[in-house]
Amino acid sequence: MPKMADQRTHLVLENYIGGKFVPCSRHIDSYDPSTGEVYCKVPDSDKEEIEEAVKAAKEAFPAWSSKSPAERSQILNKLADLIDAHLDEFAQAESRDQGKTVTFARTVDIPRSAYNFRFFGSSILHHTTECSQMDHMGCLNYTIRSPVGVAGLISPWNLPLYLLTWKIAPAIAVGNTAVAKPSEMTSVTAWMMCKLLDEAGVPPGVVNIVFGTGPRAGAALVSHPEVPLISFTGSTATAQRITEGSAPYCKKLSFELGGKNPAIIFQDANLQECIPNTVRSSFLNQGEVCLCTSRIFVERSIYSDFLQKFVEAAQKWKTGVPTDSSVNNGALISKEHLEKVRGYVKLAQAEGGKVLCGEGVTSLDLPERNKSGYFMLPTVITDVSDESRCMQEEIFGPVTCVVPFDSEEEVIRRANNVKYGLSAVVWSRDVGRIHRVAKKLQAGTVWTNCWLIRDLNLPFGGMKCSGIGREGAKDSYDFFTEVKTVTIKH
Ligand code: NAD
Repeated sequence: MPKMADQRTHLVLENYIGGKFVPCSRHIDSYDPSTGEVYCKVPDSDKEEIEEAVKAAKEAFPAWSSKSPAERSQILNKLADLIDAHLDEFAQAESRDQGKTVTFARTVDIPRSAYNFRFFGSSILHHTTECSQMDHMGCLNYTIRSPVGVAGLISPWNLPLYLLTWKIAPAIAVGNTAVAKPSEMTSVTAWMMCKLLDEAGVPPGVVNIVFGTGPRAGAALVSHPEVPLISFTGSTATAQRITEGSAPYCKKLSFELGGKNPAIIFQDANLQECIPNTVRSSFLNQGEVCLCTSRIFVERSIYSDFLQKFVEAAQKWKTGVPTDSSVNNGALISKEHLEKVRGYVKLAQAEGGKVLCGEGVTSLDLPERNKSGYFMLPTVITDVSDESRCMQEEIFGPVTCVVPFDSEEEVIRRANNVKYGLSAVVWSRDVGRIHRVAKKLQAGTVWTNCWLIRDLNLPFGGMKCSGIGREGAKDSYDFFTEVKTVTIKH
């Protein structure tokens, strides 16, 4: 495993193409969000590097796609074991690169990255295809599935290795080879994983990682004629660019995008469970999870009580230095992002909203060395209209809005009144109501009386501007393969 650079020197990353580390002559500065200092240089790759990577992936495809699922499964499992064996190094690196707490990286990001390989290494062993009989025609129809070729995989900065491996694992499990581009802001753990690929038995060219920005490396991957499939997680605006860039080639596209997720809290909710869970769903990972709650609708009869208890609990959600195991939140990803998130709080105030805790209300005491870090306290806003930008746009930070509602029908309409449709949470003890509301909410996932519990076997994705397609065991299998119907007359 590579050693992290000394605090005063920069860590310099290299692309991983055809099983080799390839230096790049141009670099992008990458910052430690907890100090605001540059600590890493990320390759600023362009068309040439993407071209090399696609070439290597194409060359590796025939042999890799011919392996049995069991052989590929064994390699994926070995890679999972190696990631687990380096848990601490990965967790420290992810925290330093992204700003999240080491605890979160150690308990969520990295274990899930290993599990992605283990999960798809197992699920690939259990797929079957369809068959139908047409006896009256003397025909038997069946489907076969084949890997698509070179998969283009593009991931964001909030859950860096977790979301990158969520794409690499299913893509290669079914026999594709891959060219992946992680976010330029969080590239370190992807680079560290490259060091493990050879030891795991991943043949050269099966996984290629090209680092760089979206407009250069990302756009070159999207518009490469020999990359027939793009799996993308990121913002809705970028998805629109990817749609345009890939349109001339009619590529297969899977998009996991932003959200403006509601939590609906009925008067019969178990508040003892609901309040800590809603604090967690609003602020986990600095609010930088696409599934985070950012609009809380509370039935009017319990509104004041809820608000008081919720604000008290939010104030206990501790923000501080990411290596401190007693804190819940670390730093936001970048200065620009921090300013954008703060801007929404100012906007809410300008529109008549009240800030009950956090930004501008409570101050944060940080050690000297972290004073230029991108920290922000959990912020609760109320008295905002449904049409305000804070209630309509994805903020993607530790900010949540709380508003009252009067009836079930009304709250469903208001919860659906955004362009997004990623996830929703419903808190109630009335089973009939839970079914009714879950059915009517426009969201790819509805959690009731819980949040963020995921069975990877089931589809994951968003409606409306939150995505196109679904991923998960069967859905990923479908997306990362081409299906063909064969008809035989006997
Ligand atoms: P982003 O769209 O800015 O960037 C995501 C990735 O796309 C990065 O690797 C970036 O370099 C690349 N990219 C940017 N422009 C590109 C272009 N023109 N062509 C090709 N690639 C390009 O998103 P972000 O700011 O990194 O991530 C935050 C967003 O991701 C939020 O909207 C969040 O909700 C969303 N997200 C969604 C999910 C989900 O599962 N639905 C999960 C995590 C994050």
